[in-house]
Amino acid sequence: MKAWNFIDGEWKAASSGQRASVINPANGEVIGEAALSTAADIDAAVKAAKAAQKQWALVPAPKRAEVLYRVGSLLKERKEQLARLLTMEMGKVIEEARGEVQEGIDMAFYMAGEGRRLFGDTTPSELKDKFAMSVRVPVGVVGIITPWNFPIAIATWKSFPAIVAGNAVVWKPALETPFMARELAAIFAEAGLPRGVFNVVHGDGPTAGGALVEHPDVPVISFTGSNDVGRQIAEKCGRLLKKVSLEMGGKNAVIVMDDADLTLAVDGIIWSAFGTSGQRCTACSRVIVHERVKPELERRLLEAVKTLTIGNGLDETVKVGPVIHEEALQKIDRYVRLGVEEGAKLLIGGHRLRDDAYARGFYYAPTIFTDVTPSMRIAREEIFGPVVSILSVGSLEEAIAVNNSVDYGLSSAIFTRDVNNVFRAMRDLDTGIVYVNAGTTGAEIHLPFGGTKGTGNGHRDSGVAALDVFTEWRSIYVDFSGKLQRAQIDTGD
Ligand code: NAD
Repeated sequence: MKAWNFIDGEWKAASSGQRASVINPANGEVIGEAALSTAADIDAAVKAAKAAQKQWALVPAPKRAEVLYRVGSLLKERKEQLARLLTMEMGKVIEEARGEVQEGIDMAFYMAGEGRRLFGDTTPSELKDKFAMSVRVPVGVVGIITPWNFPIAIATWKSFPAIVAGNAVVWKPALETPFMARELAAIFAEAGLPRGVFNVVHGDGPTAGGALVEHPDVPVISFTGSNDVGRQIAEKCGRLLKKVSLEMGGKNAVIVMDDADLTLAVDGIIWSAFGTSGQRCTACSRVIVHERVKPELERRLLEAVKTLTIGNGLDETVKVGPVIHEEALQKIDRYVRLGVEEGAKLLIGGHRLRDDAYARGFYYAPTIFTDVTPSMRIAREEIFGPVVSILSVGSLEEAIAVNNSVDYGLSSAIFTRDVNNVFRAMRDLDTGIVYVNAGTTGAEIHLPFGGTKGTGNGHRDSGVAALDVFTEWRSIYVDFSGKLQRAQIDTGD
C-alpha cells in the first residue's frame, strides 16, 4: 500500500522521492510506505489550498455542508473496511477502531448541520437608523497537524468545521498512520469537494510539520499531540502572530469514593486505563481511591486485569492491542522502572510481553502500581501506555486536591452515589472534561473537547466551539440614517 500526498486533487509522491515504511504494530510487518515530504511539497499544497479557498468561501454554507453529508455517508458505507485498516496501521482493537470511524461519521453529520447555522448575532445599535451584527468569516488556509493515536477522528474534528466554515485545509498526519489520511482524502474527492480544498502532505514532524507551521500563507494551525511539540509550535506561532489551537497531553484520574458502586468503578477504570493500550490523551492513568475501599478496589482490579486478552486487535476476542512502536515500549518501561525506584508497589504487569505470540509486535503487560504518592513522577507525567497508579486519600477534598495537583487538565471522573459529592466534583475538578460514574474516556462529538492548564491553550476541538478556531468574527454596522453618526458621541444624551 502507498500513501502519497494529495495536493490539488492529485496523488503525488514526495518531490524528493523519499518515502518511509509503515509498520503494523501488532506483528512488526511492513504494510506499506508513505511520502516523506519536504517544505517544497508543503508549499505546493498551501498554494493549491490558497487558490481553492477563495472560490470555496463563496459557496453558500448550506451547499458546502452537502459535501459533508456525502462524506458522512461514505464513511458509514466503508466503516468496516476503514476500521480494519485503522487497526492494521495503529494497533487499537477492532471494536475501538469501529468506534473511532463512527466518531468521524457523527462529526460529518453534526458539522454538516452547522452549514445551516453558523450563527452570528444581531444586536441593537446605540444609534438611530443603524443596524449592527456579527458574522463568522473563514480564516483562509488551515494547517492541521495530528498524532497517530486517533488517526481519523481527530482529523475530522478539525477539518470538518474548517471546511464547512469556508476554509481550505492542508493536513500533515502522523507518519505512523498515513492510510487513514489517504482514505479520508479519497472520500472528500468522491463526495465532490472541489480540488485544492482538502490537501494531505505526509512527512516527519520537524520537516513537513515545521514547514506548515512556518508557511506565511497559513494563518491558523490546529495541532494535537505532545506537549513538547505543542510548545515548540506555539513559540513559532507566537513569533509569527498566527492563531494556534493546541490539544496536548493528559494525566487523567478516576476518583473512587467510599460509597461508590465498585463493580461499575472497576469497569470504568479498566476500560479507560487499558483501552487503546492506555494511548489516549484521556486515558485514566491515576486512580484516586478513598482509603476505606482501597483494598477491595485493588483486589477487584487485579481480578479484572487477569481476564484481559492481549494480542492483535483484528482478533475480535482481544481487549488490549499493542502499543505503537518500540520507542513507545521503551518509554513505558522506563517509567515503570522509575516507579519501582520511587518506591511505588507493583501490583501486576511491569514488563513487555516477549512470548512467541507477542515476539514481533510491541506489547506491554497491563500494569498497576499502588501506594503511589502525588509527588512521584509516575503520578505526574504522561506515560501514554497501559500503566495506572493508585493513590489513596481520606476525603473528597483531598481527592480533588490530588486530582488538580498535576500540570495537565484534560479529563477526570468520579464514582460516587452521593449527590453532594457529585456537584462538588463538577464544580471543583479543574479539567476540561468531567465524568460522573463513568471512566475518563468517551467524549461525544457535539460537546467541546479539550483541556485546561498544560493540556491546551484555551481552544477546543469538536462541538460548536471548534468553529471559533476556524473563523474570525466580523462586526458589521449598517448606517441608514443618511448622515454621519458618531458612536459614543451622537447618542442624544
Ligand atoms: P507528537 O507531538 O510526537 O506528534 C504529533 C504530530 O506533530 C505528528 O504529526 C508529528 O509528526 C508532528 N510533529 C512532530 N514534531 C513537529 C514539529 N517540530 N513541528 C511540527 N509538527 C511536528 O505526538 P504523538 O506521539 O503523535 O501523539 C501522542 C500525544 O498526543 C500524547 O501526548 C497525547 O496525549 C496527545 N494527544 C492529545 C489529544 C488531545 O486532544 N488533547 C488527543 C490525542 C493525543
